[in-house]
Amino acid sequence: MNLPARLTTFLDKEEHKMFVDGEYVSASSDKKIRVIDSATEKPVGKIRVANAEDVDKAVESAKRTFNSIEWSKMYPADRELLMFRLADLIEQNKEELASLITLENGKLLGDARSSDVMGAVRTFRYYAGWCTKLEGETIDISMRQKMGKQNFAFTRREPKGVIGAIVPWNFPLSIAAWKIAPAIAAGCTVVLKPSEETPLCALYLAELVMEAGFPKGVLNVLTGDGKTTGASLVNHKDIAKITFTGSTATGKAIGKNALDNMTDISLELGGKSPAIVFQDANRKEVAKGIAAGIFRNAGQVCVAGSRVYIQKSNYDEILTDICHVADRMRISHGFDQDAQLGPLVSKNHWKRIDGYIKQGVEDGSTLITGGNNPKSKGYFMKPTIFSCENNQDFVVQEEIFGPVLVAVPFDDIEDALQKANDSRYGLAGTVWTQDINKAMLCINELKAGFLAVNSPVRSDANLPLGGYKQSGFGTELGKVGVYNYTNLKSVNVVY
Ligand code: NAD
Repeated sequence: MNLPARLTTFLDKEEHKMFVDGEYVSASSDKKIRVIDSATEKPVGKIRVANAEDVDKAVESAKRTFNSIEWSKMYPADRELLMFRLADLIEQNKEELASLITLENGKLLGDARSSDVMGAVRTFRYYAGWCTKLEGETIDISMRQKMGKQNFAFTRREPKGVIGAIVPWNFPLSIAAWKIAPAIAAGCTVVLKPSEETPLCALYLAELVMEAGFPKGVLNVLTGDGKTTGASLVNHKDIAKITFTGSTATGKAIGKNALDNMTDISLELGGKSPAIVFQDANRKEVAKGIAAGIFRNAGQVCVAGSRVYIQKSNYDEILTDICHVADRMRISHGFDQDAQLGPLVSKNHWKRIDGYIKQGVEDGSTLITGGNNPKSKGYFMKPTIFSCENNQDFVVQEEIFGPVLVAVPFDDIEDALQKANDSRYGLAGTVWTQDINKAMLCINELKAGFLAVNSPVRSDANLPLGGYKQSGFGTELGKVGVYNYTNLKSVNVVY
């Protein structure tokens, strides 16, 4: 694969430094992490683990910029222009960024282009428009005043301050954009901590932020792990809000720590999302749709439809159709144009998923297909499908976060809804039927924040995305996505 020239120059570094106050600087700690191409197992780069002192420098820069006249008094229309310029630059660097994401994450190049890079472009363009549309309300109130005096009450939205953004590795650029874009649109500044598995595209993005003309300190990028770098960011007293996407276990730990400083938090966490397939569903569309819902990005998608509930009357046929699609997927390096399934992100993640599959088999669930690595090199996992009679089976309840689908039969709509809602998670769900009444009943009854009918779920910059139950709180995207980075101030002028 011939990499674009600018990417070759970017990668040709002994070590990738963190990005603080508009420039790349070395972290003070000596601890290093290697970034690995999970398809070839070859190193792609090296980062250092930023410690509390480094975090301090990044937050200090973001705070200085937040309070600066240059940023705090910038006209919203000028902020909007900068954001549009950044979106254009990301688009112009589409090949560089997509190739970088394929190298550090393993995902298919086509997906990196369309989901990550163009997803980020769409998010920056969408929120660019919000810079000039943030507004308060005038409100009629009933507060009694002295004779002849009146109230003039209104609200205004103010930027929260320095935002600590902690993101996972599965969509390293687009999820970062879901946080950076609305934060900047609201007038905040950001310290981003990408995952230690995929830190490079965030560092590349930082370069583009400067190229677009943003003041230094609007975006700082810290390299490092969760234990040291992430935890120091969460504990920093000058962080106004932590916006986190990742696992439920980490989210809970972050939530508890953030509360010590009364730092605002939003937590976008794990999922184990159901897909309900009724007997009347369009059979041709179902198998492809269910397979796309779970095997995209090798199943490493928070909203993946990882539990499929199929009506008993045609359980066997539908399951056979899905297996047919799964078994024919071309498994290969993300740079292979014909690849349909890339590797998992890392060796550790491969081992974790392998462990889940083995435990599922031991637990008595029926492994129908997959469950092994078909290649001698790289962290690949074949599309894997279990059939389970019992909704309490380990593989039905656990978030696996890989290309593993669990099928369970159901009798009728009540049974389907009871089983689908019987999960500690509540992120997403899909319903497959030609009957609008069944679809509407499921929409009403499913305890999840992001649903689709007759399609896998897909995100859009204007469609809010957030979870119920253990999938977290603090919806992202849409207008609520930008409101989350503002404080609402209420004022009454007595005149
Ligand atoms: P993770 O929780 O292991 O890590 C996420 C980020 O948190 C990383 O940057 C990591 O370095 C950091 N981190 C880890 N421990 C920390 C700590 N104690 N303090 C501060 N930061 C810490 O998750 P992951 O393995 O990177 O991502 C997979 C998980 O993310 C899955 O559970 C998936 O469902 C979830 N996810 C959710 C959404 C959503 O929108 N709800 C989207 C994508 C992924």
